[in-house]
Amino acid sequence: MTVELFSADSGWVNGYYRDICHLKFEEIIQRLVAVEEIRALLQKYWGYDTFRPLQLEAITAVLANHDSVVVLPTGGGKSLCFQAPAVKLPGLAVVVSPLISLMKDQVDSLTECGVPAACVNSSLTASERAKVAKQIRDGSLKLLYIAPERLCTDQTREFLKQSQISFFAIDEAHCISSWGHDFRPEYRALGLLKEEFPGVAIHAYTATATEAVRADIARQLKLDSPQFHVGNFDRPNLVYRVQPRADHLKQIRDVLERHRGEAGIIYCIRRTDCEELSETLNRLGHRTRPYHAGLTDEQRIANQDAFLKDEVDTIVATVAFGMGIDKSNVRYVIHAAAPKSLEAYQQESGRAGRDGLEAECVVLYSNQDFILWRKMQEGLSGDAGDAAAATLRAIEGFCVSVNCRHQQLVEYFGQTYAGASCSACDVCLQELDFIEDSLVLSQKILSCVVRVQQKFGADYVANVLVGSREQRILDNGHDRLTTYGLLKEMNKKDVRSWIEQLLGQGYLVRTGEFHVIALTPTGRQVLKSEITPRLLRPLEKKSTRQTSKAEVTSWEGVDRGLFEDLRILRRDVAESRSVASFMIFSDATLRDMARRRPGSLDVFQHVSGVGEKKSADYGEQFVARIRAYCLANNVPLDQKVAPVPASEPVESSESKNSSMARVNAIAFFRDGKSVAEVAELVGRAVSTTAQYLSEYLVGEQITDVTPWVDEATLARIEKAAHEVGLEKLRPIYDYLEETVPFEQIRIALTCLQNRINANSQ
Ligand code: ADP
Repeated sequence: MTVELFSADSGWVNGYYRDICHLKFEEIIQRLVAVEEIRALLQKYWGYDTFRPLQLEAITAVLANHDSVVVLPTGGGKSLCFQAPAVKLPGLAVVVSPLISLMKDQVDSLTECGVPAACVNSSLTASERAKVAKQIRDGSLKLLYIAPERLCTDQTREFLKQSQISFFAIDEAHCISSWGHDFRPEYRALGLLKEEFPGVAIHAYTATATEAVRADIARQLKLDSPQFHVGNFDRPNLVYRVQPRADHLKQIRDVLERHRGEAGIIYCIRRTDCEELSETLNRLGHRTRPYHAGLTDEQRIANQDAFLKDEVDTIVATVAFGMGIDKSNVRYVIHAAAPKSLEAYQQESGRAGRDGLEAECVVLYSNQDFILWRKMQEGLSGDAGDAAAATLRAIEGFCVSVNCRHQQLVEYFGQTYAGASCSACDVCLQELDFIEDSLVLSQKILSCVVRVQQKFGADYVANVLVGSREQRILDNGHDRLTTYGLLKEMNKKDVRSWIEQLLGQGYLVRTGEFHVIALTPTGRQVLKSEITPRLLRPLEKKSTRQTSKAEVTSWEGVDRGLFEDLRILRRDVAESRSVASFMIFSDATLRDMARRRPGSLDVFQHVSGVGEKKSADYGEQFVARIRAYCLANNVPLDQKVAPVPASEPVESSESKNSSMARVNAIAFFRDGKSVAEVAELVGRAVSTTAQYLSEYLVGEQITDVTPWVDEATLARIEKAAHEVGLEKLRPIYDYLEETVPFEQIRIALTCLQNRINANSQ
């Protein structure tokens, strides 16, 4: 009964139910009251009625003073997870944030909503710092943003100890882990907070997915039995399109035309490309600015500010741009060249559509990009070099593959994509032009790989198929193979591309030092006509662009003319207050206004994203503009419409749905390959591949651990397990003085447990 009361918030029922089972009746009532109070605060300060997935669970952990690690994708709403409880709890919440720009934006946004917040950093004058110190002393602040190095000075800690600290929130928490992609040594000092502030809970927030990084965050921060809240990594409001680069200026301008006057980011690999592209686009009438590490600090800040304040539409940048930018209304991200990894792509494309509205992410790639990245990685050696090469191959596979892009990204990061079609990528929107009889074509290519005994690279196989007279082919006698010249009427470039597509889809793999290509288990199924790959037609791609579901829904009932009018008003208001436009109202809020068209302040307050302070500050101006527009255009006011929710991710399923990568991985594990080798062969992250291995070990009750853990290490793990028990990894890890990675311990224990199971039967 009680549970049903809350079923409106998806994801909450289970978390809540799990969580309350052990509580006394009074405690349950207290929690219910707390949740209702938080809901009221959300409405009052932020103007939102509902929680995004996992927000309530994360907020409940803060209210219960229980350490937590929260992983939500960019735009998932992490900030509210600590900002809302900070307003409710007595005392000051200290938020650790890596960048000054990020702190400033968050403080400005909170101030706009009426929440007392401040930051301390080197950009403040002495008198500004003194003012913040006074606010902390007199208890008038609810949130303090601070950089890790400053927080960890003796002086700051001693000062804060004199105040009541409600909790610590560590933003961008993956920076503490050297296994993450953005390690910052200064974050390590945060490990002392637990000892220095006993009893004060610590909550870590990140968009980084891997299990290893999450565990490392908890360990480095010395969290006490933390709750882990891990969201779905899919971003259903993003439409992914991947195109080979042909006429790149035209391809880029096509995207810009679709988003006239809207904000977007174009990523280039090199600084000179940023400069040139920005200049060319400006000459053609677009409003862009470059951003890269070669500019002076002043230029970079000026260009970034112009973008944040909507003075220009587009920033043309290297990867130096982005971290700490939480502009919510970025409507497109174009990669003018291939990104360097899927991890980087997830981050960079993730900067689009943080407000939950539809946004477009386009990659324009060419083989030259991968050559360039490889060159830039030449300095890396050993494990770092291998890892960089493997991640580059994964993004290469993503570009040439013709499987659902959402599914590929989600699976790469270890989750299963449950939806049949995302309706939000070029593949599922059927914008790509597929060959009808791709089974026969694939079989011709795969047979040729078999005929050359899986001992040659992609280029050689393509040459055999098109009947090249290359000397090497003649010397090897491959001109006498039945598959020689089987595709002689085709262009070699196209045959090469099909081979890449078969590699990208997991029917072929590159192996060994010389990257010879070989069939995977699923490739063999193609030869038996059990599976049909999809191959792209080599002709010009269809230029039709379909509309995604998210786009249709988010515009439902919106008067576009009014929306544009309100955007102009928002820009004027933002300019007069010297803040970024999206801090006044998000695009999602403006669309809700242009849908409801409130003719009075009373109705205005019901617009999603309008809290009490913003209603008081801007209500009159916006209502006047809405009334004037509706009168002039004969459009009805005060429409009663249910708010259109921002796209929610498709429920991710942790079921054992077998993707091709999983099937192939398990076959490779059967051959005794290591996790790193298999990760590379199937084009998945190492953490994802380790999960496949666990499934395989448990599913087939494997007892022989030697392919993955050497005998000496196994003996040490067994001895440790004997001493401290085999129920938990952590005590064994500590017993072994952190010298054996968690993954190896997990594998050994799983096999050990399988052996115990076998003996007890
Ligand atoms: P993250 O830090 O996870 O990338 P943010 O905290 O910046 O995400 O939130 C992204 C956007 O979503 C912001 O514009 C924020 O105001 C909005 N948002 C957050 N929570 C909600 C909610 N419950 N309902 C509607 N919008 C929300």
